[in-house]
Amino acid sequence: MIIELKKNTDSATIEKLAQRLNAFHICNQDKNLLITSASVKELASELEAHVENQWVFANDMQLSSRSFLNETREIQLKEGLSIGGKNNNTLLIGGPCSVESEDQIRSASELLKELDLSVLRGGCYKPRTSPYSFQGLGLEGLQLLSKMRDEFGHLIISEVRDATHVEAIIEHTDIIQIGAKAMYDQGILRACAKTQKPVMIKRGFGTTLQEFTQAAEFILAGGNSNVILCERGIRTFETKTRFTLDLCGVAWLQEHTNLPIILDPSHAMGYAYGVPSLTKACLAMNVEGLIIETHPNPAKAKSDASQQLDYNGFRTLYNELQPLAECLGRKLK
Ligand code: PEP
Ligand code: MN
Repeated sequence: MIIELKKNTDSATIEKLAQRLNAFHICNQDKNLLITSASVKELASELEAHVENQWVFANDMQLSSRSFLNETREIQLKEGLSIGGKNNNTLLIGGPCSVESEDQIRSASELLKELDLSVLRGGCYKPRTSPYSFQGLGLEGLQLLSKMRDEFGHLIISEVRDATHVEAIIEHTDIIQIGAKAMYDQGILRACAKTQKPVMIKRGFGTTLQEFTQAAEFILAGGNSNVILCERGIRTFETKTRFTLDLCGVAWLQEHTNLPIILDPSHAMGYAYGVPSLTKACLAMNVEGLIIETHPNPAKAKSDASQQLDYNGFRTLYNELQPLAECLGRKLK
């Protein structure tokens, strides 16, 4: 249940009520909200005097649900740029899977600048499936990304792999990416709840939509209202493609949740040949963002070599997306 308390409720009372109900307390646009488990369906009558408004839910998808907030949340990324709300911006986020060197990440920044795009991606803490693979440049990579932000003005998105470096990611990025394998990590979720920076949480490849939205609830109930969901493919019986991009799941999320959505066709497909047409299908879902891996020389990439577009491939994709975006009434940013 979400309970909106009366305006004049003093802080001692709020604290007492939160304790009694075992509830999270957040202050959202001057409104004091208490969020309990969805199993609470009604309040004791002596509490009613404090209540302005209340919402009852069938399950723990509460703050993220359209029955609480009907409009897609607007997430301010910087002055003059937001996603969600009433605008129709779709981010086209580009950059390599991993930051590998200053030259490499500068060339990606130059590409984004040429196309007037706003957000640069690049992983520094890579969640590899083998301990012998490249694990990322760590803090050195984050410092390179910060340098690119200073030189080019792009917003930076980079992933957190585990709780040991979550503070470094929060400090150096403009959008925090929680990796698909990290989305169950409570240390990460709780740390991301304590900042106001936007957080893009990726759906694990074996994660149900209910579990996915509940992971988002950890961040929302902990006090950060700037959460974006990212579908990046789930594991099915099919092995010819790396994962299966769950666009049906996206339609479900759009119908039932108020969170903006970014789609990641690169990781879903796993092969560069399929990424352009899949990206167009993603744009047609009217989502708030697309995240595409691109590398100056994909064959030499230290991670995810087979799925990264080369720069000409990325340019061509951008040019093909533009008329489609126009037709859909969306603006690529
Ligand atoms: C990535 O974005 O490079 C990545 C590792 O993604 P995921 O967490 O979806 O596997
Ligand atoms: Mn990758």
